Amino acid sequence: MSDSRIDNLERHCPRLGGEISFRYCAMSGEDDGFCWKILDCWWEAFDVENYLKANMPEAAFQALMATADKPKNKIASILQVVEQAKKKKGEKSP
Ligand code: SF4
Repeated sequence: MSDSRIDNLERHCPRLGGEISFRYCAMSGEDDGFCWKILDCWWEAFDVENYLKANMPEAAFQALMATADKPKNKIASILQVVEQAKKKKGEKSP
């Protein structure tokens, strides 16, 4: 089940550095599945957890949730710091 309103939502991607749609996030992970950061990236925009639960096989959803609960790996942490620095720099610009 796909929802075009959700599929067309856009946000800045911390991995790619540009605006991308949720549709891309839903097929940019391993084996053309959901990106592992999808919960982190979209929870503020809509109830992404329930959306995924309704649209993924139960085992895949549980695997994604288990990944989300793990501490961020080093690269993810570095990307998060870079993203925060970009935001701070943007806030200071006139
Ligand atoms: S879920 Fe993945 S592809 Fe989508 S914005 Fe986040 S990091 Fe980028």
